[in-house]
Order: sequence, then structure tokens, then C-alpha cells
Amino acid sequence: MKKIGLLTQILIAFVIAIILGAIVGPSIEVVKPLGDLFLRLIKFIIVPLVLASLVVGVAGTGDIKRIGRMGGITFVYYIVTTAIAVTIGLVLANIFRPGSGLDMTLSSDTAEPTATPNVVDTILGIIPTNPIASLVETNMLQIIFFAIFIGIAIAMLGEKAKTVYNFFDEFAEIMYKITNIVMKTAPIGVFGLIAPIVGQYGVSVLLPLIKLILVVYAGCILHAVLVYSGSVKIFSKQSPLKFFKGIAPASLVAFSTSSSSGTLPITMKSTEENLGVSKKVSSFVLPLGATINMDGTALYQGVCVLFIAQFMGIELSITQQLIIVLTATLASIGTAGVPGAGLIMLTMVVTAVGLPLEAIALVAGVDRILDMIRTSVNVTGDASAAVVVNALEEKRDLKAFW
Ligand code: ASP
Repeated sequence: MKKIGLLTQILIAFVIAIILGAIVGPSIEVVKPLGDLFLRLIKFIIVPLVLASLVVGVAGTGDIKRIGRMGGITFVYYIVTTAIAVTIGLVLANIFRPGSGLDMTLSSDTAEPTATPNVVDTILGIIPTNPIASLVETNMLQIIFFAIFIGIAIAMLGEKAKTVYNFFDEFAEIMYKITNIVMKTAPIGVFGLIAPIVGQYGVSVLLPLIKLILVVYAGCILHAVLVYSGSVKIFSKQSPLKFFKGIAPASLVAFSTSSSSGTLPITMKSTEENLGVSKKVSSFVLPLGATINMDGTALYQGVCVLFIAQFMGIELSITQQLIIVLTATLASIGTAGVPGAGLIMLTMVVTAVGLPLEAIALVAGVDRILDMIRTSVNVTGDASAAVVVNALEEKRDLKAFW
């Protein structure tokens, strides 16, 4: 009998989860431990995987200028695609007006405004005062800083630090191996994660907000099809279909877990094995992306703010909508790659245009459903950046060679 590929297995699990969830209803909750098991298995890989693979990636490059250049391209790509995402969200929300004519009451539990983070403190906060604490707390930006520094120092020391380099190199291999083993349980995990969600949200819960859900889903799909297909095709000459198929395991796991940080080991595996991105590039671009690049989240925030304004019968001016592009881009950067984080950061965008915070309660009821698609886009966007940066780096290497 022909062996069924992992992607097909995940897809089958996905479909079965939806069907069983819909038939059984809330009591399908009993399968949730299967989802939690998978989630814990992938989460335990993240810190050692990122540390080891990034140290090796940077040390192997051995060229500070190159790291700076890669960082620059990655950052610009992240910001530009995120701003495009919010704009797509705003355009769709202006056209389809998901919040107009909605008859719902606001619940009184007000969302707490988040303190807007101070820019200087945020940047200073990237430098760990105790790197071991950063590892323990999974502070991704601090871990990235720590790993890049060790990598640079190893490269500068050369032979003197060979043993440590080999240690991280072999350790990274071990973490890749563990990822491969854990991935075999993905179909069961996806089933355990999706079925309870479908069981819990019957159609009746979704119906009043169906327009909002449709606009966010349509926007996310449109963004992926336009922006990621376009950039992958233009910069790497890769077929967009091959790209989407290659990243599909990660996109599906992101959809099921609603966590781009949690999906990171699988994003790295899929980009390297299916999309041909070098470990050097993926170990740098992807952990950074899982932390700061959230196109789906930004798009969702854009749609939700307009949704709230429309619900309250307030028209937002062009200037206010430009403020949304800016604040949603920033808010998405500050959003952690964990479930529900985008909803918390939405308060920042809502406040920026002077809308009442309690209106967020409207969105909160179906946030999980919106979280799934936005996380999936967040992860796919990170992978597209990895493909683009990889292609640009390869071109440079070729030029240098000749
Ligand atoms: N769940 C999203 C992620 O992990 C963040 C969000 O809530 O928007 O990418």
C-alpha cells in the first residue's frame, strides 16, 4: 500500500475533526488532551531549536555585514507586507461594511486598555540582562539577540571556539530530529485541536458576526494570494502553488494552534525541506518573523476597528484610517505569537482613533475563529520572507562567485 504523505494525513484529520465536531457538539471536548499533547510537544522544541540553529547559522555565515544586510531586508519586507495587509483589510471593510445594520448589545465587561509600550524601553528590552532568564521565559527577541552575539563571537574566534560551534551544530541537528519525530503526531494533534473548537462554536454562535468573519477570512486569503504569490514569484521565481503546498503543513498547524510561536519548529522544517531555504536564512528570518511579523493580525485589526466604528454609526475619516494603518502595523509587531494576543493589542488601535474600548467585546466572542486564519497568514508571511531573503542571498553569492 502506498504511504500517505504527512500533509494528506493532516488534511484528512482536519476534515474528520470538522465533521465529528459538528455532529457531536460540545462534548467532543474529550479529545482536547490530544491537541494539548501535540501543542506541548512542539512548544518544548522552540527554545533549544532557535538558540542552537541561530548560533550555528550566524557563526557559519561569519560575516557581520551579511547578517546586517539580511536583517535589513527582512525588516523592510516585514513592515511593507504588514502595511499592505492592513490596507487590504481596510479596503474590504469599507466595501462590505461588516458592522453596519448589526443588532447586538454590548456586554458590560470592558476590556482593559493596554499601556502603550514606550519605544525606547522596547528597544532596550531586546538586550537581555540575564540570557538564561530569557531562555527560561521564552523571550524570543532576547534569545535572538543572545544567539546572534554568540554566533558572531564564535565566528570571530574561529578555531578557538570550534568545540562550542560543533556542540551547537550537533545540538541543532538533534532538535531537527526531534521536530521530525514530533511532526508524525501532527494529524492526531490537529484533530484534537480543531474538533473541540468546531464542537464549541455551533453555527448559531457564528451567525450574527458572519459578515465580520467572512471579511477577515477573505482579506487574509486575498493578502496571501496577492502578496505572497507575487513576492515569491518575483524574487525567487518559485511557483506560488509550490510555495503554498510546501508551507501548508505549517499553515495548517498554525490554523489549529492559533500560535505562530508554537508553530515555529514546523515552519522551519517546512521552509527548509519543502521550499529549499537554507538553514542559515530560516534560522534567522523565521524566529524573528514569529515574534514581530503578523500580517494576518494587522489585517484583522484594521477590519475590526472599522467594524466597531460602523457598528457605532461613526464614520472614520481618511486621516483616521491612515492612523489605523500605522497603529495596526505597530500593534501587530508588538503582538506575541500566542493565541488571542491580537485581540489584546486591538485595544491600542481602537484607542488611537478614539473609539470606546468596550466595543471590543463584540469581537471577543468569535475571536478564536478569527485567530485561526490570522495566525495561518502570519506564519505563511514569515515563510514568504524566508524564501525571498534566501533568493536574494543566493543571487549575491552567485555574483560574488563570478
Ligand atoms: N495568535 C496570533 C499568532 O500567534 C497572534 C494574534 O492573536 O493575532 O500569530
